Amino acid sequence: MTEKVDTTVRGPEAYGLARRVLDDMEAAGVWPTPVNFELWLHYVGDPEGALGREIRRILATKEPFSESTSEMLASEYLPRGRLSEEIRDAGRLLDKELSSVASTIANTHKAQAEYGATLADASGKMDGVENAESLKSLVSTLADATHKAQTQNSTLEKKLESSTREVAKLREHLEQVRRDAMTDALTNLANRKAFDEHLEGSVDAAHANGKALTLAVIDIDHFKRFNDTWGHQTGDQVLRYVASVLGRTAKSPRLAARYGGEEFAIIFPDENTAAVEKALNGVLKEISSRALRRRSTNDELGAVTISAGFARLRPEETAACLLERADAALYASKRGGRNRVTNADQLEQAA
Ligand code: GH3
Ligand code: MG
Ligand code: MG
Repeated sequence: MTEKVDTTVRGPEAYGLARRVLDDMEAAGVWPTPVNFELWLHYVGDPEGALGREIRRILATKEPFSESTSEMLASEYLPRGRLSEEIRDAGRLLDKELSSVASTIANTHKAQAEYGATLADASGKMDGVENAESLKSLVSTLADATHKAQTQNSTLEKKLESSTREVAKLREHLEQVRRDAMTDALTNLANRKAFDEHLEGSVDAAHANGKALTLAVIDIDHFKRFNDTWGHQTGDQVLRYVASVLGRTAKSPRLAARYGGEEFAIIFPDENTAAVEKALNGVLKEISSRALRRRSTNDELGAVTISAGFARLRPEETAACLLERADAALYASKRGGRNRVTNADQLEQAA
């Protein structure tokens, strides 16, 4: 992550940094949009960090640095400024709601105390009642006071109702913000961050309960060539298509994620190897047999294929090791001619 990097943009040295960033962007042929500028600020600050390496990888492909690429990088690598802003706003609104409820409650308290005093006073005056007239006036005082107390109570009730509604809205909004932060904007699958968290959790759970856990990594074949032929936008459509097939296959408790560019991953908790293999081969077959058409022109694009590798968690194995073995299996699928699934266990036995 890039949080460690000092990207101070206040102080005299900041102008030099900004100029360096702009020069670098110009040299790379990247538009100086605010998002790109922020990305480059981190890149120049820490060229060897994860973001820097990813940017260099993308630049090396000579693809135009598209808006969707910047968005993806920003959502994966930039500190979540927007998110913390939303959370701060929500906190402020919640404070406001709570203090207004508190003041309504305080007013109600005061009104109740006054009402109590009026009642006590009335009971004192009872003894002195001599005629119908003074009784009438006493009763009318009591009626007034009772009415006032009721009004105050219903004010409190309404205030509580509206606050409950406001708080529910806030909660819903925060829930949406949280979902957005975990979702890949292009494909709507879980993003890298969500995937990493989920994988760590699943690995811990599998070690604790002794159940199986399988991780598959999936990569679109010759996708660079596809982009070069049909353009990045059509490439994005294909990414969405592949993601939709994976998402359909990986219903909960499975989890599909966009791991990076044209790479995906699926976590299979508590399933045997045959079931995993069957699911992956099903996806492979479905994708490779579908003749794609470009949405804008209806041009026939042919089919794309994907390669996959999977590995089953071993006792005491970490998420990183599991991922490494699944990656090695994916690489074997690529070497073996693509459009295939490789089981890491079989690969390791053969070696
Ligand atoms: P291989 O079969 O070995 O995987 O070859 P490949 O061309 O798919 O692999 P390579 O890693 O060389 O290229 C991946 C390409 O994926 C490069 C890049 O243009 C493309 N790509 C990555 N992210 C995106 C994206 O968000 N949108 C589009 N359209 N293309 C992307
Ligand atoms: Mg790849
Ligand atoms: Mg690829």
